[in-house]
Amino acid sequence: MSDFPKLFIPGPTHVSDDILQSLSTPQIGHRTPEISDLIDYLTKGIQEILYTNNDVYLVSHAATGLWEMGTKNSVKKGVLHAVNGAFSSKWALSSELSGFYTERIDFNWGNGIDVKELDKYLSTGKFDVFAMVHNETSTGAMSDLNAISDLLKEKYPDIIWLVDAVSSMAGVKIEVDSLGIDFLLSSTQKAWGLPAGFSICSVSKRLIEVSSKIDNKGYFLDLHTYRKYYLKSQTPTTPSIPHMFGLKKMIEKIKFEGLENRWKRHIEMAKYTREWAFAHNQSLFTDKNALSYTLTCIDNVQNWDINKINDILLSKGLRMDRGYGKFKGKAFRIPHMGNIYMDDLKEYLKVFNEVLCQI
Ligand code: PLP
Repeated sequence: MSDFPKLFIPGPTHVSDDILQSLSTPQIGHRTPEISDLIDYLTKGIQEILYTNNDVYLVSHAATGLWEMGTKNSVKKGVLHAVNGAFSSKWALSSELSGFYTERIDFNWGNGIDVKELDKYLSTGKFDVFAMVHNETSTGAMSDLNAISDLLKEKYPDIIWLVDAVSSMAGVKIEVDSLGIDFLLSSTQKAWGLPAGFSICSVSKRLIEVSSKIDNKGYFLDLHTYRKYYLKSQTPTTPSIPHMFGLKKMIEKIKFEGLENRWKRHIEMAKYTREWAFAHNQSLFTDKNALSYTLTCIDNVQNWDINKINDILLSKGLRMDRGYGKFKGKAFRIPHMGNIYMDDLKEYLKVFNEVLCQI
């Protein structure tokens, strides 16, 4: 058994040995042909995974910084935030603290985004940007991007659309170009199955245009800083090269598995987990119309002693999730993304079953 428990928390997720090994590839210079070859490979791979021809920027910091990259480069009039959990709420806070005219549409935590409500807010004409979290990791609620895309295309084609896909990118099919997403962002510690501290975003041509008309964006988060180096297959600052080698390994694994197989597998793992919960007479915390494919949030109606389960699982080398923030003990999450495959999930739930017999 490793010195550290295997992670069954929704981020950082478990990193498998092959990925860990790829992180220790020797360093290469960040202004060399070697890095440009690597970046070209990563960019093309990510564009395929996201079904996009948009620019793809590789960023050596947490996704939270990309929230501000998205808004700094787009908001002139005002930004509307859909808030249905902890992360979407924090993103709205980041816009408020940045001094943008910000409004929140609040939905029950556990629900997805209601398109009719969204329509009402956008129809006020107060906003030029709409920001949302696709997959609320705090509650396991995944919103319907197709429905939102239809609304924006039909009634609000000028709205810039920013989407946080931190716990869905690479685990759920997101067809960026056909949906028309201007800015899609993720960090690597969830469905990408890599360590934290590295992020990815895709950026539409029209967002790059909009950004060029905005002043005082500073340097570090200006999309044009990234674009200048992107065109040379480099990054503006010295990047986290281990992450880049890890990402290359992950893209190879994704290609080997096949995109459609990958999306299908995540859906199957989600179904398996839900069935497991129902078989134990537990309920799902998340609204049935917004169930995530990458994590399942279980309403602990059976009042299981989550701390006790956690202790026993830990003694068996497994780290469970005990619930996000205020839901601790009441609603716990089971992740099925990144390097968690069906066999890992089945094994985890089997051990979980054994633990349940002991409490
Ligand atoms: N957005 C979502 C949906 C998340 O789940 C998280 C982290 O859990 C974040 C944003 C923040 O990501 P990072 O820690 O990389 O800034």
